[in-house]
Amino acid sequence: MTRVFLGLGSNLGDRCGNLRAAIDLLRRSAVDVDRVSSFYETEPVGPVADQPAFLNCTLSARYGGSAEALLTVTKGVEEQLGRERTVAKGPRTIDLDILYYGDAVIDDPPALSVPHPSIPERRFVLVPMNEIEPGWSHPALGRTQRELLESTADTSGVSLWEGEGE
Ligand code: AMP
Repeated sequence: MTRVFLGLGSNLGDRCGNLRAAIDLLRRSAVDVDRVSSFYETEPVGPVADQPAFLNCTLSARYGGSAEALLTVTKGVEEQLGRERTVAKGPRTIDLDILYYGDAVIDDPPALSVPHPSIPERRFVLVPMNEIEPGWSHPALGRTQRELLESTADTSGVSLWEGEGE
């Protein structure tokens, strides 16, 4: 079993329900989820800034298959939840990213890059990662989640969501 971390986000429809449904589907797909962060409301970052705020969380899990098999699972969950994308990087019902797959460093773009290349510049990943595993070391950068959060250039808003999390 490999320790894995996933990032989840939603900014369309019932955002909280979408995150919960994705976690439920992951659990039914042999992803043994052990910790889920709080849900955070986050400001859109990237090329399409003019879109609704996201709800984001991260989770840790144990998974028995390969990273490629995990990607197939996460894509399947996105499909089942009816992810529709009309604008690249635009609004989505659910987005699942493989943040870490144990200590693996996989460089096979565009299909799969692990650790996810955007982690150091995304507070919406680093803040929830610091809630569940601040000491986890980035295998390529050799820096903990705590250090990455302290040094990120990202200043976008990430606030604890008032609703009930997982
Ligand atoms: P996005 O639009 O950001 O959700 O990108 C989706 C595409 O990114 C998928 O087709 C994946 O094959 C690819 N991808 C590359 N690395 C990763 C990763 N670490 N986690 C999830 N998707 C990835």
